[in-house]
Amino acid sequence: MKQLKSCPICNHSAFKLIDTITASNWNVLVGENLQREEHEFQIKECKYCGHMIYVGSYSEEMFSFLYSNNSESLTIKTRPWIFETIFNFTFPQMKIKDKIHLADFGGSYGSFLNNLISKLKASNCKIFADSYDLRIPNIEKGPIDFHSCNFNVIKDLKKNLQDFDFGFCIHTLEHLLKPREFLRALYTYNKRNFHLYIEVPANELLNKNHARSVGLIHPQHIHIFTKPNLEFMITTIGYSIVKSKYENKGDIPRIQLLIKKKNNNLKKIVKRFMDYKIYLLHKAAKIILKECSSKKKVAVWGIGQEFYNITKIEPNIVKYIQSGDLLLIDLNLARKSVFRTKIVHPKDIPVKLDKIIILPIIKHTRESIKSSALQLGLNETKIIIPYQ
Ligand SMILES: [Zn+2]
Repeated sequence: MKQLKSCPICNHSAFKLIDTITASNWNVLVGENLQREEHEFQIKECKYCGHMIYVGSYSEEMFSFLYSNNSESLTIKTRPWIFETIFNFTFPQMKIKDKIHLADFGGSYGSFLNNLISKLKASNCKIFADSYDLRIPNIEKGPIDFHSCNFNVIKDLKKNLQDFDFGFCIHTLEHLLKPREFLRALYTYNKRNFHLYIEVPANELLNKNHARSVGLIHPQHIHIFTKPNLEFMITTIGYSIVKSKYENKGDIPRIQLLIKKKNNNLKKIVKRFMDYKIYLLHKAAKIILKECSSKKKVAVWGIGQEFYNITKIEPNIVKYIQSGDLLLIDLNLARKSVFRTKIVHPKDIPVKLDKIIILPIIKHTRESIKSSALQLGLNETKIIIPYQ
């Protein structure tokens, strides 16, 4: 990713160069005299949202170079309190069921999931773990399935990702080339309404820690997230934030986030609402038929969409119109004809009318028809609004 195309937070593509940083290692393969291998990275800032990002030639070789001196110092094994803070943060939302599927993205040694399994005391939990780098020695396999998966290759993720209920992404996101694509892939490929715990360094708190946190400024951390930027990225993918907080214990100021794939009920709600609208039109059609069949002098007021749909639902209504038993009233369409019947102006409503059925479903339209009817001296008991 030498050329930075777009900002993962806001998708804009205008950046400002902030600084250049050099990462270097001793090249121990070239003989007795040590030679320093150096690579330059640019730190750039998005002109729109202020997100900061490292730009360099992040190839597989470069990743091997950057991660060659990995140590175990930051793992949960050596700092058990990290596990406790994450467990306390996530446990209330973790609905323990018989076969809860867990996933740890970047779980490396497996310490986190193994601790979690022992804490849940649920032997029948099925656990999936994807390892960021399976080259790491001393993996605590336990009952965990390790899936080798390159998080920078979205196709690879699609192939390897199995549905999970609760995922953990602990200090992984800032190491990825395309964190937005990674989170979007989880959202798209996992069909469950899953929770995901995300933890990244809180870069906006670095200056509070002085020398404690200098190690964080390193091209391994491709993205320099802040809490507002991270939350913006997450919510614009479609996730909802369950809770988020800053934690500043130890060397790394951290952002803790619990997010959830939204339970998208909109489709069901819209369908239910459409069914309800059809129900109301059927109800109106029945009322018209009942009033017409009782030999009363009946009119419908409002010759619009509802009127048209009702005549399609109940064609017998057209017969009543054509036989003159059902009067049609409309202010704007007065003196036009429909079903070979002239529409009457409200001022020409016959005095001896028994019932007027107001058809428009929109509240302000039917209320305005009702008040016009009352102003014309029609008795309120004669007015029927079928949708109430
Ligand atoms: Zn941006």
